[in-house]
Amino acid sequence: MDDHYDVVIAGAGPAGAQCARDVAARGYDVVVLETEAEDEFPAQSNKSTGGTFPSMMAAFGIPDDVVMQFTDEVVLESPNDFYVQDQPGAVLEFADFKRFLVADSQEKGADYIWDARVTAPLTEGGELVGVTYNGDEEVRGEVIVDATGPSAPLAKKLGVSNLERRNQAIGIEYEFEGVNLDADGHADLADAMMLRLDHDLAPGGYSWIFHTGDDTAKVGLCYIQNESYQRYATADRTIDGYLDYWVGKDPRLQDATRLEGKQHRGSAHIQPPTSLSTDSFMAIGDTVPTIDPLWGEGIHKCMKSARSAAIVADHALTGEVNTSAEKLSIYDKLWHQDVAPNVNKRLLMTKLLYLAPNGRYDQLMNDLRSAAKNTLAEANEGNKRAIASLLHLRDVPTLARLAKLHYSG
Ligand SMILES: Cc1cc2nc3c(=O)[nH]c(=O)nc-3n(C[C@H](O)[C@H](O)[C@H](O)COP(=O)(O)OP(=O)(O)OC[C@H]3O[C@@H](n4cnc5c(N)ncnc54)[C@H](O)[C@@H]3O)c2cc1C
Repeated sequence: MDDHYDVVIAGAGPAGAQCARDVAARGYDVVVLETEAEDEFPAQSNKSTGGTFPSMMAAFGIPDDVVMQFTDEVVLESPNDFYVQDQPGAVLEFADFKRFLVADSQEKGADYIWDARVTAPLTEGGELVGVTYNGDEEVRGEVIVDATGPSAPLAKKLGVSNLERRNQAIGIEYEFEGVNLDADGHADLADAMMLRLDHDLAPGGYSWIFHTGDDTAKVGLCYIQNESYQRYATADRTIDGYLDYWVGKDPRLQDATRLEGKQHRGSAHIQPPTSLSTDSFMAIGDTVPTIDPLWGEGIHKCMKSARSAAIVADHALTGEVNTSAEKLSIYDKLWHQDVAPNVNKRLLMTKLLYLAPNGRYDQLMNDLRSAAKNTLAEANEGNKRAIASLLHLRDVPTLARLAKLHYSG
């Protein structure tokens, strides 16, 4: 271990470990500090469903052996209807995926310090020179990266991240066996990732069933405590209570049992970033936050942000070292251009979708069936014509509520 590195990264999630892979591959000295112990990793941080798309696997060289199930379709479900779209996907074994990223970055030369809880930026003469961890331990570097997800100890203290509690989405899921994937009146969920819009089951959010092979699936839900949550939530029902409620009610889950120890939970913030970098510092992944607000696609986005930060670190450390805020602000540009383009438009679409009432979701499935084949994909990309084609007169009250929320901040 050195005591001075080119790049110091806090957090070994998809963002931090990917950034270490890229930086180490360019020949820089990089260290990752991870709060969890190596032999249990990932324990608390094994939090994701791991639904993603082949584009991510190809772009980042992810091997097939971290995939639990390749899927062919994405199913959108409303309380009384569904819509099926051909869309290849992959459900990852998230723990294996995280361990692969760590092992691969180590092979490329990255150091890891385990059991290392990063607590604060280390400054000298007002300049950022490293991080402190586990109380008074220190490690120094030229470029410091916060990739700790929502805990963001460095980004918060450096004024880069302003994650607000009211924007926090929480999620929970269990792995089940004995799932009836082809129940009457529902889409066939074999080889599919299903997302369900239904305020009865996930008020102000969505729930999901992702097939993981044979009769097993990841079953979960997430929501943000938005206006829909205030309107539809049942008093005193926790997020675990909502999952129990769904399991007790859905015919597909009647004979399903939870797999021991296969439980994941976590949170992410649904808000635009205030800033992304400052002198000698960049924040990546859900620290910023980078997760796509509409469907919670966090893995690919966070890894893209990691790659952008690695490119900028390389740029700053090449030739005469220059890690000034101005130099590192190239990362902000790349983030807005390549990682999360149209972030404000997507946040508006997210509010519009999750403010809509249940009846509107049934109508949406119907509209999607009769719309041109690419409408959902185009609307998802923020195409105004595609979005307009899915809007109705009956959306006026939702749009009015949205405008009110928007203008009242
Ligand atoms: C229930 C659930 C389901 C999800 N499903 C999907 C999905 O299907 N598809 C998808 O694309 N995304 C999904 N996501 C989102 C995705 O998991 C996240 O966007 C992604 O993991 C963020 O990566 P990250 O590296 O930024 O942060 P994290 O994954 O949060 O990793 C942060 C790392 O930093 C470590 N750490 C934290 N604090 C410290 C500290 N102080 N010092 C040192 N280390 C620290 C943690 O232990 C962890 O290893 C889901 C999230 C949840 C909660």
